[in-house]
Amino acid sequence: MTNAATGLNMQDHESFMWNKQVLKSQSRIASFMDKLKISPPNCLLLEGGSPGERKALSLYWAMSLNCRSARGPCHECGPCVQIRDEAFRDLHLLGPGDKVKIGQIRELRTIYSQKPHFSWRIVVIADAQALRAEPANALLKSLEEPGPGNSFVLLSPQRESLFSTLVSRSCILTLSRQSDISFDEELETVFSELAQFARTGTGWLDRTSGKNKPDADQARQIVSRCKQELILSMLQKNSSNLFHRLSPAAGYQVQSILKQAEHCLGLNNIRVDLVMEWLAVGLWKNMNQRDEYVY
Ligand SMILES: [Zn+2]
Repeated sequence: MTNAATGLNMQDHESFMWNKQVLKSQSRIASFMDKLKISPPNCLLLEGGSPGERKALSLYWAMSLNCRSARGPCHECGPCVQIRDEAFRDLHLLGPGDKVKIGQIRELRTIYSQKPHFSWRIVVIADAQALRAEPANALLKSLEEPGPGNSFVLLSPQRESLFSTLVSRSCILTLSRQSDISFDEELETVFSELAQFARTGTGWLDRTSGKNKPDADQARQIVSRCKQELILSMLQKNSSNLFHRLSPAAGYQVQSILKQAEHCLGLNNIRVDLVMEWLAVGLWKNMNQRDEYVY
């Protein structure tokens, strides 16, 4: 089925609309990339935002460097469409980090010295914070001797969880953590269950101990949403906010708990369910003004 307005089939249309939404909510990063393409850095590190936003912006970067239009990305030319469909010959998508093998990095190194088929070869590594030491070291060598026409993009929730040697060789772009992209229905349900537990102390542990426990990506998005709600509650914008009426002292504690949860979720081999249980109990204690909280 084809959409009359855009000429795209429905699947393409969804991806088109999603990317448009990301570019709108992360327009600051997109316009920065438009300037950066004049002299592209060897390695970009995209941190913050959601996993989907980071990936969409890495594709935007690939389009920026390869679009046929000088003012690009046009989203319509051959390279733009192929990159959107992840079918571009010079686009290499690796990750998540813990699944990247040293052999893959070495294999890519053999082609770095060759000219890209089009303008720029882009290597994107999702969840780069989960890279193991061996592939990370091999990657480091590639960053030190990148060869012309190669651009690396590392995606990670936060720079602190990456090897510092990779961070120091990257140009860092921090996506807005206050994305106005709404959750999908499932994530909205998960978030409302956490919110209910934070208010009443009931329900959430069924979720974290059950079959449909949140995965790491969902957990990070939920933590980002909590941070967003906390900021909005400080601005007193919305009385239906999760943290509405939180005292300044409790707000400070909640901020600290969210920061620690975010840090833990960026670590390798972490038990996401335990982090989310710890987070829920911490929120509940602080929102109900228990005297004994010690976080
Ligand atoms: Zn284009």
